Amino acid sequence: MSAAEEIAALIRAIPDYPKPGIMFRDITTLLQDPRGLKLSVDGIAEAFKDDHIDLVAGIEARGFILGGAVAHELGKGFVAIRKKGKLPSVTLSQEYALEYGVDSVEVDVDACKPGQRVLVIDDLIATGGTAEASLGLVRRLGGVVVGAGFVVDLPELGGAQRLRDAGVNVQSLVT
Ligand code: 5GP
Repeated sequence: MSAAEEIAALIRAIPDYPKPGIMFRDITTLLQDPRGLKLSVDGIAEAFKDDHIDLVAGIEARGFILGGAVAHELGKGFVAIRKKGKLPSVTLSQEYALEYGVDSVEVDVDACKPGQRVLVIDDLIATGGTAEASLGLVRRLGGVVVGAGFVVDLPELGGAQRLRDAGVNVQSLVT
């Protein structure tokens, strides 16, 4: 079995979560498996190891788990991109569209210095709204987006392609 097949086999599909008609890809089963966790972290780190990264940014909440481990593996610092209202200091905020309404992500204003090279990590990309807003925050801080790494890409939702069309190096381990 390839690494991608092993990872895919460890992800649990939950029908009708969080609402009817949605098939949620639950990675808790992947993370609790020692080999699954290692394959996921190593796979993302390997994809960006030659990209001269200064910082790894993880998107709350599952992106913290993977992003923290990738940052450690690459020997870099970690930046938390959080949901609205969670960061205690001075933040930048970026809204993004949901199916109904808007949500937003936030980052500390001093999370990166202009010109620092930042890799953004989350567990999964679907429509790409969360990732796009997160990349926007990095850029507003003056950071250089080196790429975006995910365990799972749901290609039928088009987010990864949209980011690639905009010039972002998007890497995912399974589709
Ligand atoms: P997007 O903004 O690309 O439409 O959705 C991606 C965001 O929603 C990510 O932060 C991801 O954690 C979460 N998400 C959406 N659908 C799923 C899913 O099926 N499984 C998991 N694990 N996360 C999802």
